[in-house]
Amino acid sequence: MKTVVFTDLDGTVLDEKYSFQDVKPIITQLLFLDAAVVLCSSKTRTEIEFYRRALSISDPFISENGGAIFVPKNYFKVAGFDRQTREYDIIELGIPYVELRKKLQSIRDGMGCKLVGFGDMSTEEVAKDSGLSVELAGWAKQREYGEPFRIVDCNEEQLFKTAKAEGLHVTKGDRYYHLKGKNDKGNAVMRLKEVYVKNFGQIRTIGVGNSANDLPMLDVVDAPFFREKTEPVDVPWKKILAKVVNQSF
Ligand SMILES: [Mg+2]
Repeated sequence: MKTVVFTDLDGTVLDEKYSFQDVKPIITQLLFLDAAVVLCSSKTRTEIEFYRRALSISDPFISENGGAIFVPKNYFKVAGFDRQTREYDIIELGIPYVELRKKLQSIRDGMGCKLVGFGDMSTEEVAKDSGLSVELAGWAKQREYGEPFRIVDCNEEQLFKTAKAEGLHVTKGDRYYHLKGKNDKGNAVMRLKEVYVKNFGQIRTIGVGNSANDLPMLDVVDAPFFREKTEPVDVPWKKILAKVVNQSF
């Protein structure tokens, strides 16, 4: 039976210094055991492609908090899609970035406090603010379905309400809030699970994350794992590997 591991990136595969060295050997073993590893992050397509290559993963991935599912061409026999590129069949669940930027402005006007989005910052400013390299910050600015932002002197509850009144959602990640449509990691994982089932029959699913925006994803998998802030990043991964090796589902 096919095992599919859905995983967040920041704080789950990547430690606080954006290093994946502790988790990479475990992911390599999971892939060797024929598990699929699906990166499911608030990061952009370009950023995820970078980590996916670095981790030698060739499975589909989910970008920008469930904004879109990217399925490599010929990965599945049967898969529906909304858009195609040379490399991928793409299932789109999010709202286009241009619309989100307009809405961020309305929310800002309605709140009367400071909201600073990636679209308001230069690449260098994003690098400085996030601790990413300038190259990675440039990729992080290539948004398609979501806008990360930070707040200064804003009431969080009011923020959630104001976004909702605009027909949008705000979710809290590790470093930033994210403005997005109804899409979340959970909807996207459910959608991709259906495609896996169509192609592989019965599957077993594992999920791993470390933040509030991972909870919808952890709700829809057979075996959820949550990395606590105090734990080294590879702690849940050791448990996941043991589960897959022992087939203890
Ligand atoms: Mg995270």
